[in-house]
Amino acid sequence: MTDALYPPQRLKLVRDSVRAAGLGAVLLTPGPDLRYVTGYDAKQLERLTCLAVPAYGDPALFVPRLELPAAQASPAGSLGLEIVAWEETAPGADPFGMVARMLGNVGAVGLSDQMWALFVLKFRDALPSARLALASAALRPLRIRKTAAEVEALREAGAAIDRVHARVPGYLRPGLTERAVGSVITEAILAEGHATVDFVIVASGPNAASPHHEVSDRVLREGDAVVVDIGGTMPSGYCSDSTRTYAIGEPPAEFTAYFKILRDAQEAACAAVRPGVTAESIDAAAREPIAAAGYGPAFFHRTGHGIGLEPHEDPYIVAGNGVVLEPGMAFSVEPGIYPGPHGARIEDIVVCTATGFERLNHAPRELLVVRG
Ligand code: ZN
Ligand code: ZN
Ligand code: ZN
Repeated sequence: MTDALYPPQRLKLVRDSVRAAGLGAVLLTPGPDLRYVTGYDAKQLERLTCLAVPAYGDPALFVPRLELPAAQASPAGSLGLEIVAWEETAPGADPFGMVARMLGNVGAVGLSDQMWALFVLKFRDALPSARLALASAALRPLRIRKTAAEVEALREAGAAIDRVHARVPGYLRPGLTERAVGSVITEAILAEGHATVDFVIVASGPNAASPHHEVSDRVLREGDAVVVDIGGTMPSGYCSDSTRTYAIGEPPAEFTAYFKILRDAQEAACAAVRPGVTAESIDAAAREPIAAAGYGPAFFHRTGHGIGLEPHEDPYIVAGNGVVLEPGMAFSVEPGIYPGPHGARIEDIVVCTATGFERLNHAPRELLVVRG
């Protein structure tokens, strides 16, 4: 599985992409870019770990001496990639200088988008004549289109979070706090196969009108609508993210009426996904029915975000984003309506296919009424 998900030839694709982006090299510290290129899920440390991929010449992975066994045991160890260990006990150890000497006179250098400022400033000093840019100039065009193996990894993530949603109605009992429900959901996310929990939103009653509410000590009550938005990262490195809205007993009549509009809007936006249309057209497909019903101002976030090795990445499904969808692009479709003192959201991960779309979440999207 590792080979298909993190194929050895990816290093060459990245080098070609570095050239195409007009960069002299990219420098990737631990994070999603490094994992994408090498399969190495390196620890974020104050000690420098850095993959240097020059436009011309061989790449090299610089690691602190004590991380060498972990780097060699990772998929990066079987790429035929030079791994250079730097010795922190040597007086004047300067891994930044080592990277700079390898690159030589390099022109523009792309730094991974999430590189710590600690390293950015050190590289700025070590490469005084280089123009610093973002590595996403080279990585984004690759990462935005998922391979078949990546789509399969996202499918597994989707199935795992669907199994958690299948358990949620059993957790929503009047008298429990959001926090208590959230902690059981956290355990379920791990029990269903995720390696880590990325977020747990249990937004009940008036809290459901705040899209990024997490959990609080509010006690669930009869008549509450509850937005449950959950996600984690699988051992493969790929993420899940899915929202369902539940009701405990009979929700307010207005809520039931706009929930139907939301359900239709989410359906329409998914059905609009196919190659050749823009990201913003999917946003418009979700927004139009909601606005037509008078709830336009109550849908105040973008319709979705890409997903892969990061829970939020390109492409963003938002007005103004003219990116044209291509097969392999994976993103959320998650319209919401938040008029207060209640709210609702429905979220699935969708992949653009050669002819249309595939949903990666299959938990029922109807309002799930839990009897207290
Ligand atoms: Zn969100
Ligand atoms: Zn979500
Ligand atoms: Zn999302």
